[in-house]
Amino acid sequence: MTDIFDNKVLCKNCGKEMKKAKLVKRGFQMRALICENCGNKIIHPQDELEYKNFLGLKNKVFKVKLRLVGNSYAVSIPKEIVSFMREQEKMFNDLVKLTFEDAKKLKLIFD
Ligand SMILES: [Zn+2]
Repeated sequence: MTDIFDNKVLCKNCGKEMKKAKLVKRGFQMRALICENCGNKIIHPQDELEYKNFLGLKNKVFKVKLRLVGNSYAVSIPKEIVSFMREQEKMFNDLVKLTFEDAKKLKLIFD
C-alpha cells in the first residue's frame, strides 16, 4: 500500500507543494504536511486516528490488583496500553524504569 504522504500534495490555499514534517503533541509524534507559504497543516490520517486512541487511553483510570510474586508485588498493566506503546515505538524495550515519585504515586518509564 502506498502512503498518501508519499505523493505531492498541494496546499488548498495557495497551490504550493506541502513539505513533510513531524509534529509532537503531548509526547505523541505525528507525520504532517506543512505549507511553508501559509502555514496550512495536514496531519497524517492514520496518525490522527492513533492520537485520538491515545487521548482515549490517556488519564483513564484502570483498577488493577497488587499480587504478591515471591518477594515483590506485581501489577498488571492493561494490554491496550502496552499494545499502544508498542505501535508507537518501533523498538520496544521490556525493561521499564520505576520511580517512587511520592507517597501515593509510582511512575513507570518505558523508554
Ligand atoms: Zn499554503
